[in-house]
Amino acid sequence: MIATGAQYNKPPISNLQQLEGRGIYYGATYMESQLCEEQDLIVVGGGNSAGQAAVYLSQTARKVHMLVRSGNLSDSMSRYLIQRIEENPGIELHLKTEIVGLEGDDQLERVTWKDKATGETSIHDIRHLFIMAGASPRTEWLKGCLALDDRGFILTGRDLNGAAAAPAWKLTRPPQMLETSLPGIFAVGDARSGSVKRVASAVGEGAMAVHLVHRALAEL
Ligand SMILES: Cc1cc2nc3c(=O)[nH]c(=O)nc-3n(C[C@H](O)[C@H](O)[C@H](O)COP(=O)(O)OP(=O)(O)OC[C@H]3O[C@@H](n4cnc5c(N)ncnc54)[C@H](O)[C@@H]3O)c2cc1C
Repeated sequence: MIATGAQYNKPPISNLQQLEGRGIYYGATYMESQLCEEQDLIVVGGGNSAGQAAVYLSQTARKVHMLVRSGNLSDSMSRYLIQRIEENPGIELHLKTEIVGLEGDDQLERVTWKDKATGETSIHDIRHLFIMAGASPRTEWLKGCLALDDRGFILTGRDLNGAAAAPAWKLTRPPQMLETSLPGIFAVGDARSGSVKRVASAVGEGAMAVHLVHRALAEL
């Protein structure tokens, strides 16, 4: 069972780690949306996960500031999401903008960002920062052994449909849920393509995979 996780991309800010769990988030679920209800917040990132988070959080937040390093979203985000963001009065899009400072002790209190087009920096009393800058799976060692998606996450179960992804599959039965392109090898958690990237789902997949491993062993 492979559970090697992923490496989250983070902006290079010296005290970021110190404030993690104190206003810095790497996922946007119902729980986080309740923590920042009717408050201003920041979403960092220009990909689909950042776009989905911004749209979702805008339903409960007072204002969502979306900070994107590049000068446009079209290279990294689906067209339908860009449109939703542009039409949403609750989301303010800041292109070519980067966070350069965080302040706070027990809780994030202030964020400084820099507009790279003008060089201007500004300080904002914002207590919630969502970093949605993507993640890279720890699967380098699996290249050439298992079917991976285009970002290197491990393909499992029905996602292996399409023989090109599963050249090593020799059995007549299809792969089980969580089973990789090698029969009897399973992948769970953040390293798996399409996983939810939450602790509870990683643990749940691990528990499910134990049961599936027993089934695979029974075939021997
Ligand atoms: C800063 C931060 C905050 C987060 N906050 C939350 C949160 O509040 N709530 C939530 O639900 N989720 C949160 N997440 C996401 C959550 O941590 C992950 O979804 C979860 O840990 C995934 O579990 P995993 O077992 O797949 O991977 P991991 O927890 O990353 O574990 C992978 C393990 O495999 C080891 N490993 C890697 N490569 C190898 C190898 N080749 N050989 C042997 N061992 C190896 C690693 O050292 C590591 O110990 C957060 C993530 C980050 C980065």
